[in-house]
Amino acid sequence: MEITMNKKDLANFKKILIQKRTELLNKTNNAHREMDTDSDINVGDEIDTASQNNEKEMYFELAVNDKIALDAINDALAKIEKNTYGKCECCNNIIPVERLKAISWTRYCVQCQEEAENPKNKK
Ligand SMILES: [Zn+2]
Repeated sequence: MEITMNKKDLANFKKILIQKRTELLNKTNNAHREMDTDSDINVGDEIDTASQNNEKEMYFELAVNDKIALDAINDALAKIEKNTYGKCECCNNIIPVERLKAISWTRYCVQCQEEAENPKNKK
């Protein structure tokens, strides 16, 4: 298995990561704007208030996931600069390019990711 990724792949991943980061930042900004508009509309009976709270919770969860993704994307971009992109942060093994193509900002290889998600399955 190749240790270092070829320059063409690396440039491609960098492009994807920057694109995704822009997308996430735009999404977060739009969500903010929508929430602002919503709060101006009739705050009438309890049902309206309840559904508004739901939306706020959903937005909060979305924002948390987006923040995690954004952090991972920023780290991935930093790793490209440092030439360590594509290595698992846990076991230091090379993450297969196929996995990076699916989730280009992933920090871990499949094995470490599974262990992190299901610690009880650890052998
Ligand atoms: Zn690993």
